Amino acid sequence: MRISVFGSGYVGLVTGTCFAEVGNHVWCVDVDAQKVASLQQGKVPIHEPGLAALVTTNMAMGRLQFTTDAAQAVKQSEIQCIAVGTPPDEDGSADLQYVLQVAHTIGQQMTDYKVIIDKSTVPVGTADKVRETIQAALNTRGVGCDFDVVSNPEFLKEGAALEDFTRPDRIVIGTDNPDKIIPIMRELYAPFNRNHNKLIVMDIRSAELTKYAANAILATKISFMNEIALIAEQVGADIEQIRLGIGSDPRIGFHFIYPGCGYGGSCFPKDVQALIYTAQQLGINTRILNAVEAVNQQQQQILFQKINNHFQGQLQGRCLALWGLAFKPDTDDIREAPSRKLMEALWKHGALVQAYDPEAMPETRRLYGERTDLLLCDTPEAALQNADALVIVTEWKLFRSPNFDFIKAHLKHPVIFDGRNLYDPQRLRNRGFTYYAIGRGEKI
Ligand code: NAD
Repeated sequence: MRISVFGSGYVGLVTGTCFAEVGNHVWCVDVDAQKVASLQQGKVPIHEPGLAALVTTNMAMGRLQFTTDAAQAVKQSEIQCIAVGTPPDEDGSADLQYVLQVAHTIGQQMTDYKVIIDKSTVPVGTADKVRETIQAALNTRGVGCDFDVVSNPEFLKEGAALEDFTRPDRIVIGTDNPDKIIPIMRELYAPFNRNHNKLIVMDIRSAELTKYAANAILATKISFMNEIALIAEQVGADIEQIRLGIGSDPRIGFHFIYPGCGYGGSCFPKDVQALIYTAQQLGINTRILNAVEAVNQQQQQILFQKINNHFQGQLQGRCLALWGLAFKPDTDDIREAPSRKLMEALWKHGALVQAYDPEAMPETRRLYGERTDLLLCDTPEAALQNADALVIVTEWKLFRSPNFDFIKAHLKHPVIFDGRNLYDPQRLRNRGFTYYAIGRGEKI
């Protein structure tokens, strides 16, 4: 098949590459000329395990092309995927300007039948807006062209995006023209849908809302556990024992019940907010979602509170070693990352940060620029030098079993604030550390 994918970010690049990998011809279109130029040289601007190699192979085979030329891409392909960002507006609603820009471009360029597949996360009713925008562009040109808009939300996780895309749990298809669209979508996804049928066909509005419901329930599980962790901390119980105790019930399960220093990333915070906004517009009071969001805001402050309490409010001139900047392991994405809230609070109180992250330091440097209160270090060990304490924010594998003697020898004080509950509190205390975790018995 011949496919255009608009947006070469985490979703678009993975989508385009995976479609090319199974033999399709894919044009990845982006408005960011610098990004396109670097992709054309085979340089993948994001960290996603396995992606760079697949991009290179498919480019070499001539199946994957990167371009800013939307007109050519639209003309040459029947399928148009929209995978541009839908960032939060100030009021929490999803900003649809990029999605509608793509719709306008498609309407300006199309000369024959197109299937427009929306993979961006968009509020209910967006497919209608996409359809209207395309139709308006066609009307302006005085051209009559048939097209269908399909909602096909993407469920991939950064860090495991290739696996998720090529072996999806489900492929949600929202359409108002199933007779025509289902065979096309079945063909498009056939290589990833071989063992049992994962296509779930529904109406467009249900598909749009499915994506928000999925992210909202995952965020709810995290905030729920963080709230139980607060209780555990105050009553001298251990949330990690509780996690094992409840996760073993198959009705609850072990996924997404890890307590921590709050969820971040480019999806959960913005999608929960956008869903709240949608409900508010309808006069619905989303008590659960409001609480999920409020608990998370509070949880993102928890490491700072513990650090501030430990140092009795004396943070001026203190130096904190920070392990982990990415919002989760195996990505370089720092959008809404808890590390940022923490660093910003520490800086506000006059502290310095020496940070290490295996992948997210270039993005951190790009975002914050050169500043005297942030030192990005080449190794986790270098970040410890002369620091007053160690803070763990992201659960990268390489932080799981560090050399504790080295840590103790290089910190000014043997203190660890662990936002991801990586270590056994008793073992660390036996080694002479003051160890603060999340919900593990010790009060803030
Ligand atoms: P991103 O910010 O990484 O990438 C978006 C890209 O779109 C950028 O490269 C930008 O330059 C480009 N763009 C903007 N306007 C454009 C236009 N008119 N034409 C072509 N390109 C344009 O975004 P992302 O993380 O890939 O997310 C994309 C969408 O997918 C969002 O709606 C997001 O909520 C959703 N989503 C993201 C994830 C994830 O893990 N990141 C997972 C599932 C769904």
